[in-house]
Amino acid sequence: MTAGLVTVAYIGASILFILSLGGLSNQETARRGNVYGIVGMAIAVAATVFAVNIGDYTVLVAAVVIGAAIGILVASRVAMTQMPQLVAILHSFVGLAAVLVGIASYVDPRAAFLGVEKTIHEVEIFLGVFIGAITFTGSVIAFGKLQGSISGRPLLLPARHALNLVGIVVCLWLGYEFLGAADHGAGVIPLLVMTAIAFAIGAHLVMAIGGADMPVVVSMLNSYSGWAAAATGFMLSNDLLIVVGALVGSSGAILSYIMCRAMNRHFLGVILGGFGVAGGTAAAAAEGKVVATTVEETAAMLLDARNVIIVPGYGMAVAQAQQAVSEVTSFLRAAGVNVRFGIHPVAGRLPGHMNVLLAESKVPYDIVFEMDELNDDFPDTDVALVIGANDIVNPGAQEDPESPIAGMPVLEVWKAQTAVVLKRSMATGYAGVDNPLFHKENTRMLFGDAKDSVDEVLRTLKK
Ligand code: NDP
Repeated sequence: MTAGLVTVAYIGASILFILSLGGLSNQETARRGNVYGIVGMAIAVAATVFAVNIGDYTVLVAAVVIGAAIGILVASRVAMTQMPQLVAILHSFVGLAAVLVGIASYVDPRAAFLGVEKTIHEVEIFLGVFIGAITFTGSVIAFGKLQGSISGRPLLLPARHALNLVGIVVCLWLGYEFLGAADHGAGVIPLLVMTAIAFAIGAHLVMAIGGADMPVVVSMLNSYSGWAAAATGFMLSNDLLIVVGALVGSSGAILSYIMCRAMNRHFLGVILGGFGVAGGTAAAAAEGKVVATTVEETAAMLLDARNVIIVPGYGMAVAQAQQAVSEVTSFLRAAGVNVRFGIHPVAGRLPGHMNVLLAESKVPYDIVFEMDELNDDFPDTDVALVIGANDIVNPGAQEDPESPIAGMPVLEVWKAQTAVVLKRSMATGYAGVDNPLFHKENTRMLFGDAKDSVDEVLRTLKK
């Protein structure tokens, strides 16, 4: 393939990726955005493969077939509730790829750079491997935390900031040694030692982040994976990889910033860790008793209501209750009840998690609102129906300055005339913090699996 054709293909793919990101920013255009992304990636892969004259494609084709088969299998099997883990592990692959490509391109005997070019190439390698290594172990730990195989509690080593700082300073010194190395043999050692230290820094950074701050970590690792890909692009002199890496890196950074603002956290504070210590003070939670309700009572309240706000959370995804919720919504709307949905920016386990589930079950977009759009409307709401949500409706975030989630904006469901909470037990949510909402006078608990409860409510309503 001629260089000109490759360039045209790369420009086309870059435009498709930008259109894809634009499409994905809105539910109605998300599907189209996805298609743009797929077509762009297909063009990019094809152009890259045919751009280099490998001669024998057997190994490449075999690797692509095996990789694609694993990808299709995993993606088709993953439950919606495991999506965040899948995303985290995919980020780790980008990081690992950057590390491997960096080391390989350094030891490649064909690399014949001289003078300034050599220095630039080696800086690219060193930076790429550093970012890639942090992304790799950080993502693996994030995977473990989201999967529940590693505790959500932040690991707070004494002098942890100093430890990170020392690690970075040592890496800088290793970089100096690496660039000054007389030959490849001498440069490999500082490169590998730096890789090991960067692995440790990545793991430590994410281990130090707890509970409710994990959403920011996932989007931040998304951003890192983009920068790792961009660095790989520089190493391989691949323009498309640089463009795509920069797109992913900057959109991930913007998303992290938006999530931090939504959670009232400082970006740096989250990155450096230590927030979200599990446990918290349960003082507020001890006051007031818990009142359980029944399906019949809930159905009657809903039917009598003029205004209902439904607040879905992670439990709705676990129970796969979205379809039943959608049917109850249609029923109530047909009966003249004004039903709206309130979506917290970190509800569920992925940015946009609830929006995807509701769109999938055909809840009309125009009754789905962001937290800020309807948080002031709860005092005029008859019933706030909380379905499998916990942290995002915790009044402790406002009332208890000692709470690990203090300062995080929450949906103020307790201001409604009645808040009905659907969950299975009194268990805490992701952040591991007790919820005083369950003890409020106007709160009713409807215990049970969310899907079973909503199905029952629907059946009772229809009767
Ligand atoms: P939470 O994790 O706070 O609470 C979910 C609740 O759902 C649990 O208390 C659980 O209670 C209940 N539940 C679980 N399964 C079922 C079921 N089958 N039927 C009924 N209820 C069920 O979820 P929220 O959505 O309120 O908050 C999200 C949390 O996750 C925040 O802390 C956020 O920071 C964090 N997070 C968010 C990410 C994101 O990007 N959105 C990423 C990573 C973390 P019980 O066991 O009693 O049923």
